Amino acid sequence: MTEKTEIIGLSRNELIEKLSEYGFESFRAKQIWQWIYVKGATEFSQMTSIAKKQQAMLGEHFTLTRPKISRALTSVDGTRKWLLEMSDGNKIEMVFIPEEDRGALCVSSQVGCTLTCSFCHTGTMPLVRNLTASDIVGQILIARDGLEEWDKRREDCLFTNIVMMGMGEPLFNYDNVAKALQIIMDGEGIAISKRRITLSTSGVVPMIERCGNELGVNLAISLHAVRDELRDILVPINKKYPIKELLEACRNYPAANNARRITFEYVMLKGINDSDNDAHELVRLLKGIHAKVNLIPFNPWPDAPYECSSRNRIRAFADIVNAAGFSSPVRATRGQDIFAACGQLKSDSERKKGQKVVL
Ligand code: SAH
Ligand code: SF4
Repeated sequence: MTEKTEIIGLSRNELIEKLSEYGFESFRAKQIWQWIYVKGATEFSQMTSIAKKQQAMLGEHFTLTRPKISRALTSVDGTRKWLLEMSDGNKIEMVFIPEEDRGALCVSSQVGCTLTCSFCHTGTMPLVRNLTASDIVGQILIARDGLEEWDKRREDCLFTNIVMMGMGEPLFNYDNVAKALQIIMDGEGIAISKRRITLSTSGVVPMIERCGNELGVNLAISLHAVRDELRDILVPINKKYPIKELLEACRNYPAANNARRITFEYVMLKGINDSDNDAHELVRLLKGIHAKVNLIPFNPWPDAPYECSSRNRIRAFADIVNAAGFSSPVRATRGQDIFAACGQLKSDSERKKGQKVVL
């Protein structure tokens, strides 16, 4: 028996092409696309505009598999976290952060991470594998299911934004992330615009320009330190792409302008990177970049080697950055009771002994 083709994760053109092999005209393929990405169909039998015979044929050759929900938790503040199991048994976490009239889904790009940022829980996990485009789009579908937003009018939906800030380094899995985001941005499907998508990177410099040109999404940079000696420890990829090169790539980011500034994420670590001098140096470094700063109170995890800066210290740091004309909100810590805050995501997926990482 030949393997069935997984539809989730195919681009719209790939779907049209694949379906044409079975005699479906392109307008039918478009209908199927809309059933999946506008109406949230999980079975071919729900596609009532497709003849029964054709539904059966679809079932014979294609699947609509989504990741399985292993566990779903809701925080006292409304933040939701799902532990999802992929078709090969690997697990990732995904978080939805609701706000008054909007909400962001924090999406993972890898099972684990190759990088080992010293303050990040995910960084203590080895990279198990890259997520496929299907795994990534599947996360969005699961969130829409869980939030029951398929049938709502767009203006009534809370799931408005996507942040690629879950587990993994998205620019180390660029092809799959790009393909997934193209599917998610497609105007005839989920249609979340590039202005509502933010990709966060620890600083994979050679991929930044391509990301801006091809995807045009908002960029967030995990800066966290203003001197190379310290950033080498906190964000070790800095040894390969130091601060100067990283900021040069930001200056040239094709999708940034005054209305769409680059976010610099800065985790507040007590006594490590939170002095007034650090704040002044940050301001100096960001000069000339369309930038805003997001100060993230450090979220602890078991045996983490850092503490969070005091509220007063964070305030003083923010005041210096603000006074220099950069907006610098302190990110509210959300979902801590369910371990869903930034940098707390981890799953028990492990690389099997001897298993090679497939990249
Ligand atoms: N790998 C990408 C995206 C995922 S991390 C990146 O590093 O940008 C999302 C954000 O959470 C990053 O800015 C990361 O530095 C931050 N983060 C990681 N661990 C954290 C922790 N314990 N407390 C607060 N923020 C953390
Ligand atoms: Fe990976 Fe980002 Fe965590 Fe660093 S902060 S270990 S790049 S997920």
